[in-house]
Amino acid sequence: MNEFEFIDWVRKLSKDAEASCVKTGIGDDLAVIDVAGQKLLLGSDMLIEATHFTFAAATPEQVGRKALAVCLSDCAAMAGKPLAALVSISKPAATDTQIVKQIFSGISKLAKKYSCPIVGGDTCSGTEKLTIDISLLGICENTEPVLRSGAKPDDTIYVTGRLGGSILGKHLHFEPKIQQARWMAKNLPLTAMIDISDGLSSDLNHICEESKCGAELRSDWLDSVIAPEAEKIAKQDSYSPIEHALNDGEDFELLVTISSLPPEQLPELPQGITLLPVGKITSEADIKIIYPNGTGENLPPKGYNHFS
Ligand code: ADP
Ligand code: MG
Repeated sequence: MNEFEFIDWVRKLSKDAEASCVKTGIGDDLAVIDVAGQKLLLGSDMLIEATHFTFAAATPEQVGRKALAVCLSDCAAMAGKPLAALVSISKPAATDTQIVKQIFSGISKLAKKYSCPIVGGDTCSGTEKLTIDISLLGICENTEPVLRSGAKPDDTIYVTGRLGGSILGKHLHFEPKIQQARWMAKNLPLTAMIDISDGLSSDLNHICEESKCGAELRSDWLDSVIAPEAEKIAKQDSYSPIEHALNDGEDFELLVTISSLPPEQLPELPQGITLLPVGKITSEADIKIIYPNGTGENLPPKGYNHFS
């Protein structure tokens, strides 16, 4: 049973207890809870030493920054505004408290930048690996949350930036696209959105599964979303730049589907917002790459998967 099959199992198990205030439960970037008519967003993300980071490759400050940034990225993926966070941390007994303080320094700088106060949490010692778990509360103001489940056939699929090779640095210093997502939700007919944490092929698959549709990615469009870092890392391993763009995780760009808005009809976008087309949603069940000569190839989801 892989990570996603396990989450599906938890989702079925949890269905019975869902109350009417739960507008969106397990299966989206954050849950949507209706509290007195307000759409609150709620979710959590955990980072574990050796699985998600190492202190050989990242400073404690960078690790702290990333732990909050991944939560903020999920908030962006709902077009939400962050309100507050809870930070729980557990360290091996031998880890110096100074390290934990530096982690918190990284968290609190980003919290300040995104007006997301740390309002609580928990502190423990004794785990084998240092573990940080952050829960985030957000809100959708003046827009509806943009879910994974709203994509429709013929919607155009866009990404907000170039992809691949994030391990060379972007996975530590990316900016969560909070403002950009809120602008898009207000000004464009978005139908679905997700942040690219697992990899384009996997995250598009999440949208397709939730929206019960398929997708066709155009290979010529994909060529222009390959990040320079994907080209660079492809020289060091056996994967091509396009494979890195499709399957590397942790770019934390947004993947959006927009109704009736092909690239030639996109309005002028404000500074700081980029939309690069990659394909369109179809009524088929699968995701394909279409080549200029019209032939197609199935694209299996190959992004990161815990439990597999
Ligand atoms: P993301 O990559 O956007 O952070 P995940 O792949 O971590 O999303 O999670 C997908 C969905 O599954 C989310 O709605 C998340 O809240 C839910 N989820 C993941 N693990 C669990 C769990 N152990 N219990 C309940 N829900 C879970
Ligand atoms: Mg996400």
